[in-house]
Amino acid sequence: MGWSSFSGDEVAALTTGASFFAEPGERDCPACGRRRLRAYVNSPAHARRPTLVSHVWCAACRKFVGSRSRHPAGLAYSDPLALLTAEERRDVERSLTGFLAHLDRLWDEGVLPQAFAA
Ligand SMILES: [Zn+2]
Repeated sequence: MGWSSFSGDEVAALTTGASFFAEPGERDCPACGRRRLRAYVNSPAHARRPTLVSHVWCAACRKFVGSRSRHPAGLAYSDPLALLTAEERRDVERSLTGFLAHLDRLWDEGVLPQAFAA
């Protein structure tokens, strides 16, 4: 099954409830209702100001959304993808669907979710 985008209403619903940083486990998907909603954040290396890029996806219905926001001051987190070489990273990020599939696999393997500290 392919990936598709969350609707605007579904994206709005994602912002309700506890912060992902406080509770990084799976949560309820606003599209299909199953508790398979997952997320991954990282910071682009060459951003002009502190930026957080979030990928949120559902492992059940395969909807996703990507977003950028200001990096919350003092937020620290683990990043398993930081262990990749530049070449491996390019491979993984070549396509959005490939990237999401990679993240989903890492979650299934227990590498994700990330650990967060304020
Ligand atoms: Zn879903």
